[in-house]
Amino acid sequence: MIEVSEFRKAYDGVLAVDRVDFQVQPGQILGLIGPNGAGKTTTLRALCGLTVPTEGHLSVCGYDIEQQPLEVKKRLAYIPDDPPLFPELTVEQHLAFTASVFSVKNADEKASRLLEMFELSSKRKNRASDLSRGMRQKLALSCSYLHQPEVILLDEPMTGLDPHGIRKLKESLQSRADEGVAVVISSHLLAMVEDICSHVLILKEGQQRFFGTISELKSLFNSESNEATLEQIFFQATATVSSLGINVKKTEAIAL
Ligand code: ATP
Repeated sequence: MIEVSEFRKAYDGVLAVDRVDFQVQPGQILGLIGPNGAGKTTTLRALCGLTVPTEGHLSVCGYDIEQQPLEVKKRLAYIPDDPPLFPELTVEQHLAFTASVFSVKNADEKASRLLEMFELSSKRKNRASDLSRGMRQKLALSCSYLHQPEVILLDEPMTGLDPHGIRKLKESLQSRADEGVAVVISSHLLAMVEDICSHVLILKEGQQRFFGTISELKSLFNSESNEATLEQIFFQATATVSSLGINVKKTEAIAL
C-alpha cells in the first residue's frame, strides 16, 4: 500500500534523509520515530507529494507519487503537527468543504458522528480561529476521517489533545487499521507508539536505523528477554553508529 525505496532528500545540498526503505501494508500501523531533525516530517511530506524526493521511488496504493499525484491525494489523508485550517470557516464548513472536495456520500451523517466522537458537536458553528489547539487538531482529524482515506499519515497527532481525545484517536486509528487502512504516525511519545503500532521505523540524522515489527526490534536489541520498553530500545538504536556498530535497514539483513 505504501512503498518507499531508496528515498533521499537533500535541502540545498544538505542531506535530510538518506536512502530510506520501508513498506506499510493495509491494516498495519507504522510508528516513525527518531530524535529532532531525524527526517520524519520530510519523509511524511514526501509521501503526500509536498516534498519532491531528490532520489528514490515512493508510491501509495500502487500510484507513483510524482507521476500520479492526484490518484495519491484522493486516497490519502495527511495531518501535519499544526494543521492548516481556514481561520474564517466554521467547524461544519470545514467538513462540508472536505465532503465536497472528496465527493463524500452521506456527509452530514458522517460529519455528525465524527464531531460527536471528538466532542466537537457544540462547536459546529465556531470559526476555526476561535478553537483551542486541541480542538483544531480534532477538527483536522474529523476532516481527514470524513473521506475515508486508504492511507493516513499523522505528524505528532497527540499534540494538544486531552486524555479523552488521545484515547479516541488511538481507538479510531486501531479501528481504521482493522478495516484495512495503512497508517503512519510520527511521534516522540514512545509508549503510545509501542501501544498501537505494529511496525516501527527508526531514523537518526536521516539514516535508517531500523525497520520492522516491534517484536523484531525487541528481539534485535534485547536478545536475552523481550522486556525492554521501546523507550529503552530507542536510546540504544539512536546511539552513535560507531559505538553501536549497526545501521540496520532491513530486519532480514541483521547480523550483529
Ligand atoms: P522533529 O522531531 O524536530 O520534528 P523531524 O525528524 O521531523 O524533526 P525534519 O523536519 O524532517 O525532521 O528535518 C530533517 C532535516 O531537514 C533537519 O536537519 C532540518 O533542518 C532539515 N529541513 C527540513 N525542512 C527543511 C527545509 N524546508 N529547508 C532546509 N532544510 C530543511
